[in-house]
Amino acid sequence: MAKIASGSLYLGGTCEKHFPVEAPGASGKIVRKSEVAVVAYAKRVLIAGAGPVGMAAAATMANQGIPVTVLESASALSTESRASTFHPPTLDMLEAIGVAKDLIAQGLIAPTVQYRSSEAPFANFDFGDISDLTGHPYRLQCEQHKLTRIIAKRYGSDPNLRIEFGAEVLEAAQRDDGVSVKVRRPDGSIEQREGLWLIGADGARSAVRKSIGITFDGFTWPERFLVISTRFDFLRIFPDLASVSYVADPVQWYFLLKVPGMWRAMFPIAPEVPDEKAGTVQYGADTLARRFTGAATSPIDHVTLYRVHQRVAATFRSGRVFLAGDAAHINNPLGGMGMNGGIHDVVNLCGRLTKVWRREADPSELDRYDRQRRLVTLEYVQKHTIENKRNLESSDPREQQSFRTEMARTAANRELARKYLMRISMLASLKRAAELG
Ligand SMILES: Cc1cc2nc3c(=O)[nH]c(=O)nc-3n(C[C@H](O)[C@H](O)[C@H](O)COP(=O)(O)OP(=O)(O)OC[C@H]3O[C@@H](n4cnc5c(N)ncnc54)[C@H](O)[C@@H]3O)c2cc1C
Repeated sequence: MAKIASGSLYLGGTCEKHFPVEAPGASGKIVRKSEVAVVAYAKRVLIAGAGPVGMAAAATMANQGIPVTVLESASALSTESRASTFHPPTLDMLEAIGVAKDLIAQGLIAPTVQYRSSEAPFANFDFGDISDLTGHPYRLQCEQHKLTRIIAKRYGSDPNLRIEFGAEVLEAAQRDDGVSVKVRRPDGSIEQREGLWLIGADGARSAVRKSIGITFDGFTWPERFLVISTRFDFLRIFPDLASVSYVADPVQWYFLLKVPGMWRAMFPIAPEVPDEKAGTVQYGADTLARRFTGAATSPIDHVTLYRVHQRVAATFRSGRVFLAGDAAHINNPLGGMGMNGGIHDVVNLCGRLTKVWRREADPSELDRYDRQRRLVTLEYVQKHTIENKRNLESSDPREQQSFRTEMARTAANRELARKYLMRISMLASLKRAAELG
Protein backbone atom coordinates (compact mmCIF):
# COMPACT_ATOMS: atom_id res chain seq x y z
CA MET A 1 0.00 0.00 0.00
CA ALA A 2 1.27 3.47 -0.81
CA LYS A 3 2.68 5.39 2.14
CA ILE A 4 1.37 8.91 2.10
CA ALA A 5 1.14 11.84 4.47
CA SER A 6 -1.20 12.01 7.41
CA GLY A 7 -4.55 13.75 7.34
CA SER A 8 -6.67 14.67 10.30
CA LEU A 9 -10.26 14.05 11.19
CA TYR A 10 -12.01 16.49 13.46
CA LEU A 11 -14.09 14.59 15.95
CA GLY A 12 -15.80 17.47 17.67
CA GLY A 13 -15.09 19.55 20.74
CA THR A 14 -11.41 20.20 21.04
CA CYS A 15 -10.43 16.73 19.96
CA GLU A 16 -8.51 16.26 16.75
CA LYS A 17 -7.38 12.79 15.79
CA HIS A 18 -4.73 12.08 13.22
CA PHE A 19 -5.22 9.12 10.99
CA PRO A 20 -3.38 7.80 7.97
CA VAL A 21 -5.16 8.72 4.76
CA GLU A 22 -4.45 5.27 3.40
CA ALA A 23 -7.61 4.36 5.31
CA PRO A 24 -9.97 6.49 3.23
CA GLY A 25 -13.09 4.65 4.39
CA ALA A 26 -16.09 3.45 2.51
CA SER A 27 -15.35 2.90 -1.13
CA GLY A 28 -12.07 4.86 -1.11
CA LYS A 29 -9.26 3.23 -3.04
CA ILE A 30 -5.60 4.25 -3.02
CA VAL A 31 -3.57 4.03 -6.15
CA ARG A 32 -0.31 5.68 -7.05
CA LYS A 33 -0.07 7.32 -10.43
CA SER A 34 3.55 8.26 -11.12
CA GLU A 35 4.75 10.17 -8.01
CA VAL A 36 1.37 11.50 -6.89
CA ALA A 37 -0.64 9.53 -4.32
CA VAL A 38 -4.27 9.34 -5.40
CA VAL A 39 -7.25 8.54 -3.21
CA ALA A 40 -10.16 7.64 -5.47
CA TYR A 41 -13.71 7.57 -4.19
CA ALA A 42 -16.22 6.22 -6.65
CA LYS A 43 -19.30 7.76 -5.12
CA ARG A 44 -18.04 10.38 -2.68
CA VAL A 45 -18.72 14.11 -3.03
CA LEU A 46 -15.67 16.32 -2.49
CA ILE A 47 -16.05 19.70 -0.84
CA ALA A 48 -13.28 22.31 -0.80
CA GLY A 49 -13.38 24.38 2.40
CA ALA A 50 -14.65 23.72 5.93
CA GLY A 51 -16.19 27.16 6.48
CA PRO A 52 -19.87 27.50 7.39
CA VAL A 53 -20.93 26.83 3.79
CA GLY A 54 -18.71 23.79 3.17
CA MET A 55 -19.69 22.30 6.53
CA ALA A 56 -23.41 22.95 5.93
CA ALA A 57 -23.05 21.22 2.55
CA ALA A 58 -21.24 18.27 4.14
CA ALA A 59 -23.89 17.87 6.84
CA THR A 60 -26.73 18.15 4.32
CA MET A 61 -25.26 15.34 2.21
CA ALA A 62 -24.24 13.13 5.14
CA ASN A 63 -27.69 13.57 6.64
CA GLN A 64 -29.05 11.93 3.49
CA GLY A 65 -26.56 9.06 3.77
CA ILE A 66 -24.33 10.38 1.00
CA PRO A 67 -20.57 10.20 1.63
CA VAL A 68 -18.59 13.45 1.52
CA THR A 69 -14.99 14.43 2.12
CA VAL A 70 -14.20 18.02 3.07
CA LEU A 71 -10.73 19.22 2.08
CA GLU A 72 -9.62 22.09 4.30
CA SER A 73 -6.31 23.89 3.91
CA ALA A 74 -6.05 25.00 7.55
CA SER A 75 -5.05 22.68 10.37
CA ALA A 76 -8.34 23.17 12.25
CA LEU A 77 -11.72 24.85 11.91
CA SER A 78 -11.45 28.63 11.71
CA THR A 79 -12.10 30.78 14.79
CA GLU A 80 -12.43 33.95 12.73
CA SER A 81 -15.23 36.24 13.82
CA ARG A 82 -17.12 37.30 10.71
CA ALA A 83 -20.81 36.46 10.31
CA SER A 84 -22.89 36.72 13.44
CA THR A 85 -26.42 36.74 12.05
CA PHE A 86 -28.49 33.70 11.13
CA HIS A 87 -31.77 34.50 9.39
CA PRO A 88 -35.07 32.66 10.05
CA PRO A 89 -35.09 30.37 6.95
CA THR A 90 -31.43 29.50 7.53
CA LEU A 91 -32.34 28.32 11.02
CA ASP A 92 -35.18 26.27 9.50
CA MET A 93 -32.60 24.63 7.20
CA LEU A 94 -30.15 24.02 10.02
CA GLU A 95 -32.93 22.42 12.02
CA ALA A 96 -33.41 19.91 9.19
CA ILE A 97 -29.80 18.75 9.64
CA GLY A 98 -30.10 18.60 13.41
CA VAL A 99 -27.87 21.52 14.41
CA ALA A 100 -30.23 24.48 15.01
CA LYS A 101 -30.98 23.64 18.65
CA ASP A 102 -27.34 23.73 19.73
CA LEU A 103 -26.68 26.87 17.70
CA ILE A 104 -29.64 28.67 19.27
CA ALA A 105 -28.43 27.58 22.72
CA GLN A 106 -25.07 29.25 22.02
CA GLY A 107 -26.51 32.40 20.46
CA LEU A 108 -28.73 35.31 21.28
CA ILE A 109 -32.28 35.64 19.98
CA ALA A 110 -32.96 39.05 18.40
CA PRO A 111 -36.73 39.33 17.83
CA THR A 112 -36.54 42.81 16.30
CA VAL A 113 -34.47 44.91 13.92
CA GLN A 114 -34.17 48.65 14.37
CA TYR A 115 -33.32 51.54 12.04
CA ARG A 116 -32.42 54.71 13.84
CA SER A 117 -30.60 58.01 13.77
CA SER A 118 -28.00 58.84 16.42
CA GLU A 119 -30.84 60.30 18.47
CA ALA A 120 -33.83 58.00 18.17
CA PRO A 121 -35.27 54.99 16.31
CA PHE A 122 -37.42 55.72 13.27
CA ALA A 123 -38.45 52.13 12.43
CA ASN A 124 -38.69 48.89 14.40
CA PHE A 125 -39.54 45.58 12.73
CA ASP A 126 -40.71 42.53 14.67
CA PHE A 127 -40.10 39.08 13.18
CA GLY A 128 -43.21 37.94 15.07
CA ASP A 129 -45.11 39.43 12.11
CA ILE A 130 -43.86 36.56 9.91
CA SER A 131 -44.21 33.77 12.47
CA ASP A 132 -46.61 31.96 10.12
CA LEU A 133 -43.79 31.64 7.54
CA THR A 134 -40.92 30.25 9.61
CA GLY A 135 -40.32 28.09 12.64
CA HIS A 136 -37.75 30.66 13.82
CA PRO A 137 -39.28 34.17 13.77
CA TYR A 138 -36.12 36.00 14.86
CA ARG A 139 -32.52 36.68 13.90
CA LEU A 140 -30.07 34.55 15.80
CA GLN A 141 -26.92 36.44 16.78
CA CYS A 142 -24.18 33.84 16.99
CA GLU A 143 -20.63 33.73 15.59
CA GLN A 144 -20.19 31.61 12.45
CA HIS A 145 -17.35 29.56 13.96
CA LYS A 146 -19.81 28.09 16.45
CA LEU A 147 -21.80 26.56 13.59
CA THR A 148 -18.85 24.73 12.05
CA ARG A 149 -17.94 23.24 15.43
CA ILE A 150 -21.51 22.18 16.15
CA ILE A 151 -21.71 20.43 12.76
CA ALA A 152 -18.33 18.74 13.28
CA LYS A 153 -19.47 17.47 16.66
CA ARG A 154 -22.93 16.36 15.51
CA TYR A 155 -21.50 14.42 12.55
CA GLY A 156 -18.19 13.44 14.20
CA SER A 157 -19.03 9.75 14.29
CA ASP A 158 -20.86 9.62 10.96
CA PRO A 159 -18.69 7.66 8.51
CA ASN A 160 -20.25 9.60 5.66
CA LEU A 161 -18.67 12.89 6.75
CA ARG A 162 -14.88 13.09 6.68
CA ILE A 163 -12.74 16.18 7.05
CA GLU A 164 -9.14 16.27 5.92
CA PHE A 165 -7.27 19.18 7.46
CA GLY A 166 -4.01 20.41 5.98
CA ALA A 167 -5.40 19.67 2.52
CA GLU A 168 -5.05 22.77 0.38
CA VAL A 169 -6.92 22.42 -2.90
CA LEU A 170 -4.70 23.66 -5.72
CA GLU A 171 -6.75 22.82 -8.76
CA ALA A 172 -9.67 20.82 -10.00
CA ALA A 173 -10.22 18.85 -13.19
CA GLN A 174 -13.12 16.77 -14.43
CA ARG A 175 -13.97 13.84 -16.68
CA ASP A 176 -17.33 12.47 -17.80
CA ASP A 177 -17.73 10.35 -14.69
CA GLY A 178 -15.96 12.28 -11.94
CA VAL A 179 -13.68 15.02 -10.67
CA SER A 180 -10.10 15.05 -9.50
CA VAL A 181 -8.57 17.54 -7.15
CA LYS A 182 -4.90 18.27 -6.61
CA VAL A 183 -4.13 18.83 -2.95
CA ARG A 184 -1.00 20.20 -1.23
CA ARG A 185 -0.10 18.84 2.20
CA PRO A 186 1.60 20.96 4.90
CA ASP A 187 4.90 19.16 4.14
CA GLY A 188 4.65 20.35 0.52
CA SER A 189 3.77 16.95 -0.93
CA ILE A 190 1.11 16.82 -3.62
CA GLU A 191 -1.73 14.33 -3.56
CA GLN A 192 -4.85 13.77 -5.56
CA ARG A 193 -8.44 13.10 -4.50
CA GLU A 194 -11.03 11.76 -6.90
CA GLY A 195 -14.77 11.87 -6.36
CA LEU A 196 -18.11 12.19 -8.07
CA TRP A 197 -18.66 15.93 -7.83
CA LEU A 198 -16.81 18.89 -6.30
CA ILE A 199 -18.37 21.73 -4.36
CA GLY A 200 -16.02 24.73 -4.21
CA ALA A 201 -16.81 26.36 -0.85
CA ASP A 202 -13.26 27.59 -0.42
CA GLY A 203 -14.05 31.25 0.17
CA ALA A 204 -13.66 34.48 -1.77
CA ARG A 205 -10.23 33.62 -3.19
CA SER A 206 -11.50 30.19 -4.29
CA ALA A 207 -8.81 28.06 -5.91
CA VAL A 208 -11.60 25.92 -7.36
CA ARG A 209 -13.19 28.92 -9.09
CA LYS A 210 -9.85 30.12 -10.46
CA SER A 211 -8.74 26.69 -11.63
CA ILE A 212 -11.87 26.14 -13.71
CA GLY A 213 -11.60 29.65 -15.13
CA ILE A 214 -14.80 31.23 -13.83
CA THR A 215 -14.57 35.01 -13.56
CA PHE A 216 -15.63 36.90 -10.42
CA ASP A 217 -17.03 40.16 -11.67
CA GLY A 218 -18.01 43.17 -9.60
CA PHE A 219 -16.29 45.89 -7.63
CA THR A 220 -14.54 46.74 -4.37
CA TRP A 221 -15.78 49.58 -2.13
CA PRO A 222 -13.16 52.29 -1.51
CA GLU A 223 -13.78 52.29 2.25
CA ARG A 224 -13.01 49.31 4.50
CA PHE A 225 -15.22 48.13 7.36
CA LEU A 226 -13.92 48.05 10.91
CA VAL A 227 -15.57 45.62 13.32
CA ILE A 228 -14.96 46.37 17.00
CA SER A 229 -16.01 43.75 19.55
CA THR A 230 -16.50 45.56 22.83
CA ARG A 231 -17.84 44.95 26.33
CA PHE A 232 -19.32 48.47 26.36
CA ASP A 233 -23.05 48.29 27.03
CA PHE A 234 -24.68 50.49 24.39
CA LEU A 235 -28.01 50.29 26.26
CA ARG A 236 -26.48 52.72 28.73
CA ILE A 237 -26.64 55.46 26.12
CA PHE A 238 -29.46 54.12 23.91
CA PRO A 239 -31.98 52.48 26.29
CA ASP A 240 -34.36 51.70 23.39
CA LEU A 241 -31.68 50.01 21.25
CA ALA A 242 -32.54 46.66 19.62
CA SER A 243 -29.96 43.86 19.49
CA VAL A 244 -29.68 44.52 15.75
CA SER A 245 -29.60 48.25 15.02
CA TYR A 246 -28.60 50.15 11.90
CA VAL A 247 -27.73 53.79 12.46
CA ALA A 248 -28.31 56.07 9.46
CA ASP A 249 -26.25 59.21 9.72
CA PRO A 250 -25.05 61.59 7.02
CA VAL A 251 -21.72 62.12 8.80
CA GLN A 252 -20.94 58.74 10.38
CA TRP A 253 -23.24 55.76 9.78
CA TYR A 254 -22.59 52.48 11.59
CA PHE A 255 -24.34 49.45 12.94
CA LEU A 256 -24.50 47.70 16.28
CA LEU A 257 -25.07 43.99 16.78
CA LYS A 258 -25.28 42.22 20.09
CA VAL A 259 -23.73 38.75 20.33
CA PRO A 260 -23.52 36.72 23.55
CA GLY A 261 -21.45 38.67 26.07
CA MET A 262 -20.57 41.66 23.89
CA TRP A 263 -21.54 44.10 21.17
CA ARG A 264 -20.04 44.34 17.72
CA ALA A 265 -19.89 47.88 16.32
CA MET A 266 -19.16 48.27 12.63
CA PHE A 267 -17.87 51.48 11.09
CA PRO A 268 -16.81 52.40 7.55
CA ILE A 269 -13.18 53.55 7.39
CA ALA A 270 -12.16 56.20 4.86
CA PRO A 271 -9.63 55.15 2.19
CA GLU A 272 -7.02 57.67 3.39
CA VAL A 273 -6.60 55.95 6.79
CA PRO A 274 -3.81 53.36 6.34
CA ASP A 275 -4.55 49.70 7.18
CA GLU A 276 -1.74 49.59 9.76
CA LYS A 277 -3.46 52.35 11.72
CA ALA A 278 -7.15 51.44 11.24
CA GLY A 279 -6.69 47.78 12.13
CA THR A 280 -5.40 48.44 15.66
CA VAL A 281 -7.18 48.12 18.99
CA GLN A 282 -6.14 51.73 19.75
CA TYR A 283 -7.88 53.01 16.60
CA GLY A 284 -10.97 50.96 17.50
CA ALA A 285 -10.95 52.36 21.04
CA ASP A 286 -10.56 55.92 19.76
CA THR A 287 -13.41 55.43 17.28
CA LEU A 288 -15.76 54.31 20.06
CA ALA A 289 -14.57 56.97 22.52
CA ARG A 290 -15.17 59.78 20.01
CA ARG A 291 -18.73 58.68 19.51
CA PHE A 292 -19.99 57.18 22.77
CA THR A 293 -19.57 58.70 26.23
CA GLY A 294 -18.14 56.14 28.63
CA ALA A 295 -16.97 53.67 25.95
CA ALA A 296 -13.29 54.50 26.41
CA THR A 297 -12.95 52.48 29.60
CA SER A 298 -14.68 49.30 28.34
CA PRO A 299 -12.47 46.41 27.23
CA ILE A 300 -12.21 45.68 23.52
CA ASP A 301 -12.04 41.96 22.71
CA HIS A 302 -10.87 42.39 19.16
CA VAL A 303 -10.78 44.68 16.16
CA THR A 304 -10.84 43.49 12.58
CA LEU A 305 -10.55 45.51 9.40
CA TYR A 306 -12.19 44.13 6.23
CA ARG A 307 -12.01 45.12 2.61
CA VAL A 308 -15.51 44.84 1.19
CA HIS A 309 -16.51 43.70 -2.29
CA GLN A 310 -19.61 43.08 -4.38
CA ARG A 311 -18.81 40.23 -6.78
CA VAL A 312 -20.67 37.32 -8.34
CA ALA A 313 -19.16 34.39 -10.24
CA ALA A 314 -20.04 34.24 -13.94
CA THR A 315 -21.63 30.83 -13.32
CA PHE A 316 -22.16 28.66 -10.24
CA ARG A 317 -21.72 25.41 -12.20
CA SER A 318 -19.22 24.00 -14.62
CA GLY A 319 -20.06 20.35 -15.29
CA ARG A 320 -19.35 18.40 -12.13
CA VAL A 321 -17.92 21.38 -10.29
CA PHE A 322 -20.14 23.79 -8.32
CA LEU A 323 -19.39 27.03 -6.52
CA ALA A 324 -21.16 28.05 -3.31
CA GLY A 325 -20.89 30.68 -0.58
CA ASP A 326 -18.12 33.25 -0.81
CA ALA A 327 -16.50 31.28 -3.64
CA ALA A 328 -19.59 32.19 -5.70
CA HIS A 329 -20.56 35.60 -4.33
CA ILE A 330 -19.40 38.26 -1.90
CA ASN A 331 -21.16 41.36 -0.66
CA ASN A 332 -21.00 43.96 2.07
CA PRO A 333 -22.20 42.71 5.49
CA LEU A 334 -25.18 45.10 5.78
CA GLY A 335 -28.14 42.79 6.21
CA GLY A 336 -26.05 39.71 7.02
CA MET A 337 -26.65 37.91 3.75
CA GLY A 338 -23.30 36.40 2.71
CA MET A 339 -23.09 33.28 4.84
CA ASN A 340 -26.87 32.92 4.94
CA GLY A 341 -27.01 33.05 1.14
CA GLY A 342 -24.17 30.52 1.01
CA ILE A 343 -26.07 28.10 3.24
CA HIS A 344 -29.14 28.59 1.04
CA ASP A 345 -26.93 27.76 -1.97
CA VAL A 346 -25.79 24.43 -0.60
CA VAL A 347 -29.17 23.35 0.69
CA ASN A 348 -30.52 23.96 -2.82
CA LEU A 349 -27.56 22.22 -4.48
CA CYS A 350 -27.31 19.25 -2.11
CA GLY A 351 -31.02 18.46 -2.47
CA ARG A 352 -30.45 18.13 -6.23
CA LEU A 353 -27.18 16.21 -5.89
CA THR A 354 -28.94 13.77 -3.56
CA LYS A 355 -31.63 13.05 -6.14
CA VAL A 356 -29.11 12.56 -8.92
CA TRP A 357 -26.82 10.44 -6.70
CA ARG A 358 -29.77 8.15 -5.96
CA ARG A 359 -30.72 8.12 -9.66
CA GLU A 360 -34.08 9.66 -8.80
CA ALA A 361 -33.40 12.58 -11.15
CA ASP A 362 -31.56 13.22 -14.37
CA PRO A 363 -28.25 15.20 -14.11
CA SER A 364 -30.00 18.07 -15.91
CA GLU A 365 -31.64 18.68 -12.52
CA LEU A 366 -28.33 20.26 -11.50
CA ASP A 367 -28.74 23.10 -14.01
CA ARG A 368 -31.44 24.51 -11.76
CA TYR A 369 -28.86 25.26 -9.11
CA ASP A 370 -27.09 27.88 -11.20
CA ARG A 371 -30.35 29.21 -12.63
CA GLN A 372 -32.00 29.74 -9.25
CA ARG A 373 -29.18 30.66 -6.94
CA ARG A 374 -27.20 32.92 -9.24
CA LEU A 375 -30.24 34.95 -10.20
CA VAL A 376 -31.41 35.51 -6.63
CA THR A 377 -27.86 36.42 -5.64
CA LEU A 378 -27.97 39.20 -8.22
CA GLU A 379 -31.61 40.22 -7.68
CA TYR A 380 -31.65 40.09 -3.89
CA VAL A 381 -28.34 39.78 -2.12
CA GLN A 382 -26.30 42.13 -4.30
CA LYS A 383 -29.13 44.59 -4.86
CA HIS A 384 -30.23 44.86 -1.23
CA THR A 385 -26.81 44.94 0.38
CA ILE A 386 -25.80 47.79 -1.96
CA GLU A 387 -29.11 49.58 -1.30
CA ASN A 388 -28.73 49.11 2.49
CA LYS A 389 -25.33 50.73 2.44
CA ARG A 390 -26.40 53.65 0.24
CA ASN A 391 -29.44 54.38 2.43
CA LEU A 392 -27.48 54.44 5.66
CA GLU A 393 -24.60 56.53 4.35
CA SER A 394 -26.50 59.09 2.28
CA SER A 395 -25.20 62.57 3.10
CA ASP A 396 -27.93 64.33 1.12
CA PRO A 397 -30.39 65.60 3.79
CA ARG A 398 -33.40 65.15 1.48
CA GLU A 399 -32.42 61.58 0.60
CA GLN A 400 -31.80 60.77 4.29
CA GLN A 401 -35.18 62.20 5.24
CA SER A 402 -36.99 60.32 2.53
CA PHE A 403 -35.32 57.03 3.61
CA ARG A 404 -36.36 57.61 7.21
CA THR A 405 -39.94 58.54 6.27
CA GLU A 406 -40.28 55.52 4.02
CA MET A 407 -38.94 53.13 6.67
CA ALA A 408 -41.25 54.59 9.33
CA ARG A 409 -44.23 54.22 6.97
CA THR A 410 -43.26 50.60 6.18
CA ALA A 411 -42.85 49.64 9.84
CA ALA A 412 -46.20 51.19 10.74
CA ASN A 413 -48.19 49.18 8.17
CA ARG A 414 -48.43 45.44 8.95
CA GLU A 415 -48.68 44.29 5.35
CA LEU A 416 -45.74 46.46 4.25
CA ALA A 417 -43.79 45.38 7.32
CA ARG A 418 -44.43 41.71 6.52
CA LYS A 419 -43.19 42.22 2.98
CA TYR A 420 -40.12 44.02 4.26
CA LEU A 421 -39.43 41.31 6.84
CA MET A 422 -39.71 38.64 4.15
CA ARG A 423 -37.11 40.52 2.18
CA ILE A 424 -34.59 41.12 4.98
CA SER A 425 -35.01 37.59 6.35
CA MET A 426 -34.30 36.28 2.82
CA LEU A 427 -37.58 34.34 2.71
CA ALA A 428 -38.51 36.36 -0.39
CA SER A 429 -35.30 35.31 -2.17
CA LEU A 430 -36.04 31.63 -1.50
CA LYS A 431 -39.59 32.05 -2.78
CA ARG A 432 -38.28 33.73 -5.92
CA ALA A 433 -35.69 30.96 -6.44
CA ALA A 434 -38.40 28.29 -6.19
CA GLU A 435 -40.53 30.18 -8.73
CA LEU A 436 -37.66 30.11 -11.23
CA GLY A 437 -38.12 26.32 -11.60
C1 LIG B 1 -17.37 41.81 9.06
C2 LIG B 1 -18.20 40.76 8.41
C3 LIG B 1 -19.43 40.47 8.95
C4 LIG B 1 -20.23 39.52 8.33
N1 LIG B 1 -21.46 39.26 8.86
C5 LIG B 1 -22.26 38.39 8.25
C6 LIG B 1 -23.53 38.05 8.82
O1 LIG B 1 -23.89 38.52 9.89
N2 LIG B 1 -24.30 37.15 8.16
C7 LIG B 1 -23.90 36.58 6.99
O2 LIG B 1 -24.67 35.81 6.41
N3 LIG B 1 -22.69 36.83 6.46
C8 LIG B 1 -21.87 37.71 7.06
N4 LIG B 1 -20.61 37.92 6.56
C9 LIG B 1 -20.12 37.13 5.42
C10 LIG B 1 -19.67 35.75 5.90
O3 LIG B 1 -18.64 35.86 6.86
C11 LIG B 1 -19.18 34.93 4.71
O4 LIG B 1 -20.16 35.01 3.70
C12 LIG B 1 -18.96 33.46 5.11
O5 LIG B 1 -17.82 33.32 5.92
C13 LIG B 1 -18.80 32.59 3.85
O6 LIG B 1 -18.60 31.27 4.23
P1 LIG B 1 -17.82 30.26 3.28
O7 LIG B 1 -17.86 28.95 3.98
O8 LIG B 1 -18.36 30.37 1.90
O9 LIG B 1 -16.34 30.84 3.18
P2 LIG B 1 -15.25 31.01 4.34
O10 LIG B 1 -15.89 31.32 5.63
O11 LIG B 1 -14.26 31.96 3.81
O12 LIG B 1 -14.60 29.57 4.46
C14 LIG B 1 -13.78 29.05 3.45
C15 LIG B 1 -12.98 27.89 4.02
O13 LIG B 1 -12.20 27.35 2.96
C16 LIG B 1 -10.86 27.20 3.38
N5 LIG B 1 -10.01 27.32 2.17
C17 LIG B 1 -9.67 28.44 1.51
N6 LIG B 1 -8.92 28.13 0.44
C18 LIG B 1 -8.81 26.79 0.43
C19 LIG B 1 -8.16 25.87 -0.45
N7 LIG B 1 -7.47 26.29 -1.51
N8 LIG B 1 -8.25 24.55 -0.17
C20 LIG B 1 -8.94 24.10 0.91
N9 LIG B 1 -9.55 24.93 1.77
C21 LIG B 1 -9.51 26.26 1.53
C22 LIG B 1 -10.64 28.30 4.40
O14 LIG B 1 -9.57 27.97 5.27
C23 LIG B 1 -11.99 28.31 5.10
O15 LIG B 1 -12.04 27.39 6.17
C24 LIG B 1 -19.78 38.86 7.16
C25 LIG B 1 -18.52 39.15 6.64
C26 LIG B 1 -17.74 40.09 7.26
C27 LIG B 1 -16.39 40.40 6.68
